[in-house]
Amino acid sequence: MTTDADVIIAGAGPAGSLAAYELALKGVSVLILEKSVFPRYKVCGAGLTYKILQQIPFDISPVLETQIHTIVFSSGFRQRFTRSSDEPMLFCTNRDKFDDFLLKKAVEAGARVIHGEIVMQVTQDDEFVTIVTRSGTFHSKLVIGADGASSAVARSAGLRENMLPGLAWEAEVTADPATVKAFSQTIFLDWGFFPGGYGWVFPKGDHFSIGVGGPASLSKSMMPYYQKLLEYLANCQLQTANCQLPTADCQLPTANCQLQTADCQLPTANCPLKITSTMSLKSWPIPGRIKKSRFHNKRVLVAGDAAGLTDPLTGEGIYYAVRSGILAAKSCHAYLQASHPSLESYTRSVNDELMTELLEANRIKNLFNTVPLKIHRFVRDNDRAWRAFIKILRGERWYADVPAGFGRWKFFWGAACYISKWISEMKEKRFRNR
Ligand SMILES: Cc1cc2nc3c(=O)[nH]c(=O)nc-3n(C[C@H](O)[C@H](O)[C@H](O)COP(=O)(O)OP(=O)(O)OC[C@H]3O[C@@H](n4cnc5c(N)ncnc54)[C@H](O)[C@@H]3O)c2cc1C
Repeated sequence: MTTDADVIIAGAGPAGSLAAYELALKGVSVLILEKSVFPRYKVCGAGLTYKILQQIPFDISPVLETQIHTIVFSSGFRQRFTRSSDEPMLFCTNRDKFDDFLLKKAVEAGARVIHGEIVMQVTQDDEFVTIVTRSGTFHSKLVIGADGASSAVARSAGLRENMLPGLAWEAEVTADPATVKAFSQTIFLDWGFFPGGYGWVFPKGDHFSIGVGGPASLSKSMMPYYQKLLEYLANCQLQTANCQLPTADCQLPTANCQLQTADCQLPTANCPLKITSTMSLKSWPIPGRIKKSRFHNKRVLVAGDAAGLTDPLTGEGIYYAVRSGILAAKSCHAYLQASHPSLESYTRSVNDELMTELLEANRIKNLFNTVPLKIHRFVRDNDRAWRAFIKILRGERWYADVPAGFGRWKFFWGAACYISKWISEMKEKRFRNR
């Protein structure tokens, strides 16, 4: 039988495009089947942690909108504080541009793409995989399911065990130009309003992404939380990166006071976030995994959201999509070169590298859910904790390094995690049944 490509990839999000780019670069014939026509809107905060720059093998600066140096934290809208870093911690992008850029790089490297092709099912025998789409049938030696949270590939290949559903609501919001400018290097994060819940404001060039997320089991609480977040933003005065008084150049009230400088733009140190219109408000699943699992089945493997690879603490998924796409490409290439007769290496590397990290994030999330205000204050008052937080965002440290930081007290960390898992589940249950 002739095949349409050595590897067919379902979905052209970050996982699919990075897998396609890496394979095409190695001379493998790759075909992407993508449901939408690009560029397309994707419900997402689109905050990229700095560590993503170490993974993407080409320059993505043309599609980065903002560079984040300041985070305003609050815990259930209480005890607000601002923390900054000289080094950028995050970037914000727009998913329509970002995903289109990654896909174009894959096509330039040699991948083919068919837009508007919806994958419905995959079946496999000893030699080939058959992909049934809404309009036809394709064949390949291997398939990568990168078709997102509701992955048809993962479902038909039986790769959805140990999934933990999360959910988020997000809207793209416009504001007056002064607000946009004042917040261009600042994000706002609220956490601890309900167990596992978080809210965000990310600047995206000429507008903001404002959203809330948390466990899908608490979905009823999300819309009231979203409304509360908007009210809070409209009424409170947030201290932003571009709007800090007093600074070295701006000592009030002295002769040196240089108002209206680049670093010191009035009006004042504190700015309310004045929203002018909300462009869309949509919900979308954020799938997670609670255990190390199987990420391949014979000739089919899953990556990114299709594999449930998202950070349970923050909802971050783009880094894990990119990284798993790269790992998927590596295993497929080794398989096609016959150096590895199975895709077992993929499951192993996802479990060893990504799931180890995500399971540690889940432990930290449980601890946070148990004592949210204590951890909130710890980040506020403890410089070491803040520096560790920045290093994790920048990929200089990992969640998985946290237990080692306790040295000989590591046992207590393990015990605290064990107890907090139980308390966190209890709190979530109690909140659900209120
Ligand atoms: C509200 C919200 C906010 C978020 N904010 C952030 C954030 O700030 N930072 C962060 O890192 N992560 C964030 N995430 C998570 C992030 O969006 C995902 O983890 C990431 O997009 C996963 O990439 P992916 O390539 O696996 O899947 P996707 O980006 O979902 O791409 C899947 C692609 O597959 C296509 N597709 C779907 N079904 C089919 C089919 N049957 N056949 C063919 N094609 C198909 C889709 O059209 C899409 O193009 C957020 C998620 C949500 C819901």
